[in-house]
Order: sequence, then C-alpha cells, then structure tokens
Amino acid sequence: MRRAVPSLFVSHGAPTFALEPGLAGRHLARVASRIGRPTAILVISAHWDTDTPSVSATPRPDTIHDFFGFPEPLYDLRYACPGAPPLAARARELLAEAGFAARTDATRGLDHGAWVPLMHLFPDADIPVAQLSVQSRLGPAHHWAVGRALAALRDEGVLMIGSGSITHNLREFRMAPEDADEAPYVHEFRAWMADRIAARDHDALLHYRTTAPHAVRAHPTEEHLLPLFVALGAAATDDTNERIHSGVTYGVIGMDTYLFGTAERDGERAA
Ligand code: ZN
Repeated sequence: MRRAVPSLFVSHGAPTFALEPGLAGRHLARVASRIGRPTAILVISAHWDTDTPSVSATPRPDTIHDFFGFPEPLYDLRYACPGAPPLAARARELLAEAGFAARTDATRGLDHGAWVPLMHLFPDADIPVAQLSVQSRLGPAHHWAVGRALAALRDEGVLMIGSGSITHNLREFRMAPEDADEAPYVHEFRAWMADRIAARDHDALLHYRTTAPHAVRAHPTEEHLLPLFVALGAAATDDTNERIHSGVTYGVIGMDTYLFGTAERDGERAA
C-alpha cells in the first residue's frame, strides 16, 4: 500500500536564503529526494495573511518579490512552476466539509515564503503548486484544525509544506550581523520546540505561547510559527517526526526544519 506523503515545516530564513542555500538548503534537497515526487504541493506561507483560509488557484503563478532592500540578483529569480487549480478546488472542498469558510484565489502568485524553499526542494519547478494563507489572528488551534481538515491530501500524493520560521523577531534580526552567535533565548525556545515535537506533545505545542520559554520574544507576532501547526495537524496521527535541519542565522532567526510522517522512499529502502 502506498504510504501517505509526509508533511514538512520549513524555516525559510531571510530572502537571501535563495542565493545562499548553505547547510539548510542542502538538507532540503536531501529530504526532497527522500520524499520522492509528489503529485502536487500545497505551501502554507506566513507571508499570505487573510481573514479566512484562501487557496491560490492560479494556472501560472507569478514569482512575487515581496521584500525590500535586498541584493538585486534576488529580484531576478523566478520559480516558474505550474499552478494547481484542481488541488485548490480539492483543498477548498475539504476545508468546507470541516466547516471553514474557505475560498480560492485565481490571481495570487507565489510569495517568497513559498518559492525560496521550493527552489532548494524542487529546483526543476515542474510540480504544480498552490498556496494556502494563514490567519494571523486565529492562533495555533485554528491552524491545527486546518491541517487536520487537509490531511486527506497526503493520501492523494500531495506534499504539504508549512513555511515560516521557528523563531522570528524581525527587530532583533535587523540589528544583528549574519554570523552573530545564537542568542540564548533562541536556543532555549528552539530546544523546547524540538523536545515537545519529538514527544508529540501536541497539547503543550498548541499552548506554546504560555508554556514555551521566551515564546513572545521568539514570535512577537505569530504568523511565522502558524504554518508549523498546519503541518503538524496534517500529520497528527503519524507517530514519527524528525528534525531534518537545526541552525540559526543572524543569531536570532532559527532555520529548524521538520518532517512529519515517514518519507515514502525510506520505507522502500527498508523493505
Ligand atoms: Zn518570512
């Protein structure tokens, strides 16, 4: 029997991650080869915030350069993948069945929360991609439920990727050199998340804002952590997870990336 496709949470870092993949980029390439080729990809991006869940149904999505003041070559990058209107319709249907007032958007392109990690994961840009928005005011439990509602997509060959950041204090990021030592609070927060994810302690994770050390400093606003809860919710019944990359840039931007569920090719190798 075909295994369900795992889900991923990716810390997409600063936009310059597209030009400087480093170890995090190599780890993404490696995990993509373990997952194999999904039928389509649904990226939940921290950079698309709407009142209700929205899914992009654009046939040929533009590459949106939604950042300012970065090196010129970044603005020339394109991720010219096909869109995934059938996936968007299916996602909307599943969300509606679960009681969400979801909608599709026929013009939305791919923001850098989607295309930067996709460049490292699937550089050929030949797999159809749709994006799903976050609702920054609605918190972890809402996003967990969205992931639960969409879990069936994994059985249909769809790779769900939550794209945000395991820590994301932009004010501190702007003041820090790229090679700064890791701030102690960042280390503590990342370690707590890793520990609770490994323990599958979903209750603690859903209440991270009051239970995790330095949660509010790590996420003054929540939008960059919320995609994690969609990826987690989509794999809530899986008993395996794995931190496939652990690291920090600028001393405060965690690059931790997680795989939830078993990658199909791992099973093939073991068989
Ligand atoms: Zn971001």
